[in-house]
Amino acid sequence: MRPAWAAIDLDALRHNYQALRKRAGDASILAILKANAYGHGLIRIARELSDVDAIGVARVDEALALRNAGITKPIVLLEGFFEVEQLPVLAASGLQPVIHTEYQLQQLESVSLSTPLKVWLKVDTGMHRLGVEPEQAVPFYRRLEASPNVQGVPVFMTHFASADTVGSEQTSHQLAVFGSLHEVLQGPVSLSNSAAFLTAAAPQDNWVRPGLAMYGVSPFVDKVSADLDLKPVMTLQASVISTRTIAAGERVGYGGTWQAAQRTRIGILAIGYGDGYPRHAPAGTPVFIEGQRYPLVGRVSMDMIAVELGLDSNVEIGSTGVLWGPQLPVEEIAGWVDTIPYELLCNVARRVVLDYADS
Ligand SMILES: *Cc1c(COP(=O)(O)O)cnc(C)c1O
Repeated sequence: MRPAWAAIDLDALRHNYQALRKRAGDASILAILKANAYGHGLIRIARELSDVDAIGVARVDEALALRNAGITKPIVLLEGFFEVEQLPVLAASGLQPVIHTEYQLQQLESVSLSTPLKVWLKVDTGMHRLGVEPEQAVPFYRRLEASPNVQGVPVFMTHFASADTVGSEQTSHQLAVFGSLHEVLQGPVSLSNSAAFLTAAAPQDNWVRPGLAMYGVSPFVDKVSADLDLKPVMTLQASVISTRTIAAGERVGYGGTWQAAQRTRIGILAIGYGDGYPRHAPAGTPVFIEGQRYPLVGRVSMDMIAVELGLDSNVEIGSTGVLWGPQLPVEEIAGWVDTIPYELLCNVARRVVLDYADS
């Protein structure tokens, strides 16, 4: 019997990638692998995605981990560099920073690099997180083009705030701001995350930036992966390590928050918030065991959860429970927990063993 583990279906990953590849037409794919490839394991996922045009991560450390593992693909740093001392590292490792603010531009101009960098320039078209002001975009782009530390033309990019809402006015506004700047700048552009890509919000893309969709998960609240012809890559699992029958009125778990309405059988699974299963999962959150769904009962502990099996269940010690996966969409669990699938996937803890398999 095993405690918590996650099966990573590499066939599903390839299926999703191929589906996105086909849809992308002539656009290149910047595969987003930040946060340990959304919990799926940075290095292994990078190795499997040998056809992608480039890999996107958030931190310099993530990029260096890839380089140390022998990954030679172009790597884009979605937040760029954080201090000027990192610039020689970027040059030595061939990392491409997103330039999103003036201090980065000034620092890039203040050094003399042995190898010039390919760079991306991000403009804030309305999300107000990262990016230079629209009025700064043209002069900044020209300064980058003119810098001896920059190789070739920058990729001009922006990020949507509401791409998961189809027909969003905010997206139209962001597109309009971006479009008027691109008319002046020309050059390659990058706009779409998974949601924008799947809704074809920005057909002018030269570089699409899918993250979640590659892992077979829907970015839309009203859709699951199957609706989008995607296959979930991760199946989070745990063994049933104990069962017991309790009388009506007995309570289960810390604080005794759940009380049995009738005599019933309880199963204990070896997974808890220490594994990244959300502590706030309420009673009723489904767990899939031996072909059927059972409701979570009581509070999630650090290493365990309880489910109500009822008196007729064939679940036994040693049965495997699925917390999310093809049988139980992570999108649905996110709904129960009032979060998004991104957070559930990223939070899968280090002690959860990732088992890679071709199905
Ligand atoms: C994380 C991220 C993406 C990928 O988003 P998904 O919704 O997972 O497809 C794309 N672009 C940027 C800038 C990001 O930070």
